[in-house]
Amino acid sequence: MTRIGFIGVGTMGLPMATNLLKKGFAVTAYDLNAAAVQAAVAAGMTAAASAAEAVAGADIVITMLPSSPHVESAYMGDGGVVNAARKGTLCVDMSTIDPAASRRVAAAAAERGVRFVDAPVSGGTPRATDGTLAIMVGASPEDFQAALPALQAMGANVFHVGPVGSGEVAKLCNNLIAGVAAVAVSEAFRIAEGFGVDPKVVTDVIAKSSGNTWLMEHMHPVPGLVARAASTNGYAPGFMTDLMCKDVGLAVDAARALRIPVFVAPAAQQVYRLASSHGLGRRDFTSVYTFLTPSSDQAPV
Ligand code: NAD
Repeated sequence: MTRIGFIGVGTMGLPMATNLLKKGFAVTAYDLNAAAVQAAVAAGMTAAASAAEAVAGADIVITMLPSSPHVESAYMGDGGVVNAARKGTLCVDMSTIDPAASRRVAAAAAERGVRFVDAPVSGGTPRATDGTLAIMVGASPEDFQAALPALQAMGANVFHVGPVGSGEVAKLCNNLIAGVAAVAVSEAFRIAEGFGVDPKVVTDVIAKSSGNTWLMEHMHPVPGLVARAASTNGYAPGFMTDLMCKDVGLAVDAARALRIPVFVAPAAQQVYRLASSHGLGRRDFTSVYTFLTPSSDQAPV
C-alpha cells in the first residue's frame, strides 16, 4: 500500500486526502492547526505531530498550503520536508504558489536526492470533494508517471504541463481569468439588478451567449442561483478572497517580471484587496459582489 504524508489538511487538503483514503492509500496527516488534524483523524487518517513525522515513513509527500512562504518554510525550514524525507521520496506540492518558489524548493530537494513536482489544482471544494479536480503538473516525465495514481485519486483531469514550475504557470493563467471574471460577473449583475431585471433570467441568457463563463455557471456571485455556489451558502469559502488576491497578485508579479503590460488583472487585484480590507478576506472571493453596492452619491455620472 502506498503511504502518503499529507501536510496541510485545510479547506482543500482535507477532502483531497479523504479521496486518497477512499482509493486505498494510507494517509498520515499533519497541519499546524490542531483542529484540522482532528478532522483528518475523524475522516480515518493517522495524525502526525510534526511535518517530519508525516514524512518519515512516506513514499509520497503531498503539501496543500496557503502560499509561497508557507511552502518554502514547510520544505526548507528547520525540521522541514527536504531534510526529513528519505532519499527518492516523491514530493508533490499542490498549493498555488510562485513558479519561481517551486523551482527553488525543487533545487533544494534535488540536492538531498528528494524528488519534487508542482501540481496545483482547480475546481474548488466541490470538485475536491468529488475527486474531480483539474490538476496541472510541472514535473519530469518519470516523476509525472510516479505521481499519477495519487493524482488520479483526487482529480478527473490531470495534465502534464512541462518541467517543474510549469503547473504553477498554468494555474496563474487560469486564476487571472477566474479572478477577473468574478469581478466582471459581479459588476454585470449589479447593473441588471439596478434596472430591476431578474438575475435568474439574465443568467439563463448569458449561459447561452458570448459572456458565458465557468465562474458564472458554477460559482455565481449572486446568491440563490447556483445550489452549490458559495454565495448560496452565505459566502462560506470555497476559495477565500485573500487567496484569490494572492493568485491574481502572483500573475501580476509574473507579468511585471516578464515586462508584459497588464491592465485588467491589477484592477481586479485591487478590488480583492479592498474587499479584504473591508472584512471579506476570509469569505469566498465571490463575496466581492456584496461589496460592489451602488454609491449613495446621487449625482449623474
Ligand atoms: P486553507 O488555509 O484552508 O488550508 C491550508 C492549511 O495549511 C491550513 O489548515 C493551515 O493551518 C495549514 N498550514 C499552513 N502552513 C503550514 C505548515 N507550515 N505546516 C503545516 N500546515 C500548514 O487553504 P485552502 O483553501 O485549502 O488552499 C490551499 C491552497 O490551495 C492555496 O494555495 C490555494 O490558493 C489553493 N487552492 C484553493 C482552492 C479553494 O477553492 N479553496 C482551489 C484551488 C486552489
